[in-house]
Amino acid sequence: MADYNVIVIGAGPAGYVAAIRCSQLGMKTVCVDKWLNSENQASLGGTCLNVGCIPSKALLDSSHHYSFMQKQAATHGIKCDNVTIDIKTMQTRKAEVVETLTKGIAGLFKKNKVTSITGTAKLAANKQVIITEPDGKQQTISGDNIIIATGSTPVQIPIAKFDNKFILDSTGALAIDKVPERLGVIGAGAIGLELGSVWSRLGSQVTVLEALPDFLAMADRKIATLAQRELKKQGLAINLNAQVTSATVADDEVTVSYSEQQLVVDKLIVAVGRKPHTDNLDANEAGIQMDERGFIQVDKQCQTAIAGIYAIGDVIGGAMLAHKGSEEGVMVAELIAGQKSKMSYATIPFVIYTHPEIAWVGKTEQQLKSAKIEYKTGQFPFAASGRARASGDTSGMVRIFADAKTDSILGVHIFGNNASELITEAVVAMELEASAEDLARTIHAHPTLAEAVHEAALGVDGRTIHA
Ligand code: FAD
Ligand code: NAD
Repeated sequence: MADYNVIVIGAGPAGYVAAIRCSQLGMKTVCVDKWLNSENQASLGGTCLNVGCIPSKALLDSSHHYSFMQKQAATHGIKCDNVTIDIKTMQTRKAEVVETLTKGIAGLFKKNKVTSITGTAKLAANKQVIITEPDGKQQTISGDNIIIATGSTPVQIPIAKFDNKFILDSTGALAIDKVPERLGVIGAGAIGLELGSVWSRLGSQVTVLEALPDFLAMADRKIATLAQRELKKQGLAINLNAQVTSATVADDEVTVSYSEQQLVVDKLIVAVGRKPHTDNLDANEAGIQMDERGFIQVDKQCQTAIAGIYAIGDVIGGAMLAHKGSEEGVMVAELIAGQKSKMSYATIPFVIYTHPEIAWVGKTEQQLKSAKIEYKTGQFPFAASGRARASGDTSGMVRIFADAKTDSILGVHIFGNNASELITEAVVAMELEASAEDLARTIHAHPTLAEAVHEAALGVDGRTIHA
């Protein structure tokens, strides 16, 4: 008999959620994670809680408050002369938020009777896992099932290797202790725009270098154009089509050469994507198959080529998002328990936490056009929303695409304040296969930003009231 029904490797949002759900379903579950914080203590929650979603949002919120006081407070009659920011306090607060939440996972494990082991896991034959603990002690455990949730790490490019002093990965960019006068960012993706925004709001002159010709190529074109314009207004210089050829550090400066131009900065963030984290796992040796980029290959149920060994989250690729990994974790736990469960990949929401935020679900206009799907469009600007006017945040709009024949919602795209929260209404609607008419007939509280979603839904049928 195996030691455990389920061994989960990795306690990021994919692994810890899978472990809790397995335990809830009555399975004897252990979760092995190797993450240690700066005090060499176990810190559950993976990239998301330690150096990803949570600390970045803590800094985004702090820097937004600072920027609000400098740029907007006066319009409300609030005088904030000589506003200053103490980066040490801001970073301490961020660390406290992280500590509270990572300890919270330890509490959830206890409550749900998940055994937690700190150490590096390696796969061995017959669903055995060899764990090397931080003090070097080894133990071998066996499971009826194994869920690999080892996540991802930042991609390093050879022309700009991380030293985390001048050339920073996302973790280094979250830990900057003094506002750099000039900050370069390679990559205008989620990390580049969010962390670029943080330091720009705090006073850095930020230049973003993006290789692609289109800004936010995966977003709806109209929304991306609005967002690019707004970020430019905020002071972010975004250079598209930028082919970076070198980055050299000398005299406490980084000189970046790109497309026959040069940029000299005090710090350079490289945010060009993340790669699967399978170091030390011996996955190949255990018979697990990876694709050419190193992502673990799985079927629709997240099962690898070996029955009973599953993989979820960033390590299998697709949308590298916390909520995608968590839902895969729930699905796999329920499948192992013999239940029916599946993932709704088509309704995963995407959010970029700039100000205003960019959020979407479903198809973009360019995807609909290239798939030759006939669609109707409804859109509504926040400038026409009473709630947006009252708060003073009037940039952006909501766009809804619905099938021309069936009226089913195909995509919803929002650029605006609180888009991260607003998008959930669209996700629920799409998940429940609602039509644009269903949304249009749903009563929305007044005055709310959600009324803009309602108005855009009315607009699909040409019945927008307030614009
Ligand atoms: P991870 O969170 O990477 O966790 C994997 C865990 O496995 C880690 O703790 C690791 O130490 C452990 N591990 C690896 N190998 C072993 C081994 N052999 N033995 C034991 N343990 C092992 N996503 C969002 O949805 N929203 C956001 O706002 C967002 N913001 C982000 C901001 C930043 C700066 C970054 C870097 C990422 C952000 N992401 C965001 C992405 C998100 O963090 C990841 O998609 C998510 O963490 C992936 O979860 P995971 O559980 O698959 O892997
Ligand atoms: P990304 O894939 O979002 O963006 C990387 C960008 O870098 C792309 O626009 C790409 O074209 C560009 N690029 C790649 N190579 C380049 C080069 N050599 N020179 C210039 N530009 C180059 O990756 P990221 O921003 O590093 O984020 C990593 C992962 O973390 C993403 O999958 C993202 O989904 C996730 N994440 C999500 C959030 C969120 O949900 N809000 C926030 C941060 C990170």
